Amino acid sequence: MVPFLDLQKINEPYRLSFHQALDKMMDAGWFILGKAVQEFEHSFAQFCGVQHCIGVANGLDALILILEGYKELGKLKVGDEVLVPANTYIASILAVFKAGLQPILVAPSLETFLINPKEIERNISSKTKAILPVHLYGQVCDMAAINQLARQHGLLVIEDAAQSHGAASSGVRCGALGDAAGFSFYPGKNLGALGDAGAITTNDARLAEALFALRNYGSEKKYYNQYKGLNSRLDELQAAFLMQKLPNLDADNQHRKAIAAFYSAKIKNDLVNLPAMPSEQEQHVWHLFVLRVANRQRFMQHMTDAGIQTMIHYPVPPSQQQGYPELKGMSCPITDTIHQEVVSLPISNILTVADAEKVVAAVNSYH
Ligand SMILES: *Cc1c(COP(=O)(O)O)cnc(C)c1O
Repeated sequence: MVPFLDLQKINEPYRLSFHQALDKMMDAGWFILGKAVQEFEHSFAQFCGVQHCIGVANGLDALILILEGYKELGKLKVGDEVLVPANTYIASILAVFKAGLQPILVAPSLETFLINPKEIERNISSKTKAILPVHLYGQVCDMAAINQLARQHGLLVIEDAAQSHGAASSGVRCGALGDAAGFSFYPGKNLGALGDAGAITTNDARLAEALFALRNYGSEKKYYNQYKGLNSRLDELQAAFLMQKLPNLDADNQHRKAIAAFYSAKIKNDLVNLPAMPSEQEQHVWHLFVLRVANRQRFMQHMTDAGIQTMIHYPVPPSQQQGYPELKGMSCPITDTIHQEVVSLPISNILTVADAEKVVAAVNSYH
């Protein structure tokens, strides 16, 4: 059996260093916003090529806090419209609602699955105040076009980089491609903790200052509250774990890229649409390797029978989610097609060539 994602195997090489990190924390006796959080924030800012990193509790909170931060700075207000891709993990859209803003769903391109700048332009209204591009599956959105539209119309650009740690466009990394970015270190992400964790990156010093307070009850100085913030601090132990894994992130992403190149070269089946390969100046980090297949259920059964676990990212478009009746009128045909046809193959930093060969053989034998 080739599992979709073997988190035990991914984390096993770190067992000793994780134990040492725990011992260090026990010895220090400091458990909230300590040295490990600071060290990770510094290292991750450097990794992304930005001035500021603010560690937070998870990826959803990272996005909510960015929006709340801009509200505190007077750059956003309740009711403002935020353009988000119509096909994304629900967190991108939930964050906008939680901040009291109005998400406007924008159609993606069928080839890249990414938000389409032409569709962004069509949806800009007098109420639009921000664009929230999602670097879905690890591939960078067309940030040159998006940033140009944002400049023309005076909009903020907030990256959802939860699937794209280390991805880059023309050498500039995700996290540094907009005004601010939200990251998740959920265990299954390219950089994953052993629990929930997240971060915000930005070059905006005023936003960063507000965010350091907002994630900690809105307090800069203990017991003095400048804002009505959240308790959304990056956990000290998770930060220590992430510090052990961050130095290997580039190599891990390289391995994913090699697996993706292998799949792209070896999969030969007319019933399967392979994902578009990125251009030379883009560094895609292949959080997921996503195919489109017309008869998805039959394909997935075939893969299961061949001993390959596959997954769907994601089965239901946000506009059809039960908890989001507000989005019903914003459905879009391209998104519906994507959600009906996508299937994800196993890919990770520890997937072996032998397993990748089994995956290829299984896909190629589907008829
Ligand atoms: C995982 C993910 C999030 C949210 O991250 P959590 O840490 O689970 O809150 C946000 N956006 C996208 C695109 C994601 O994949």
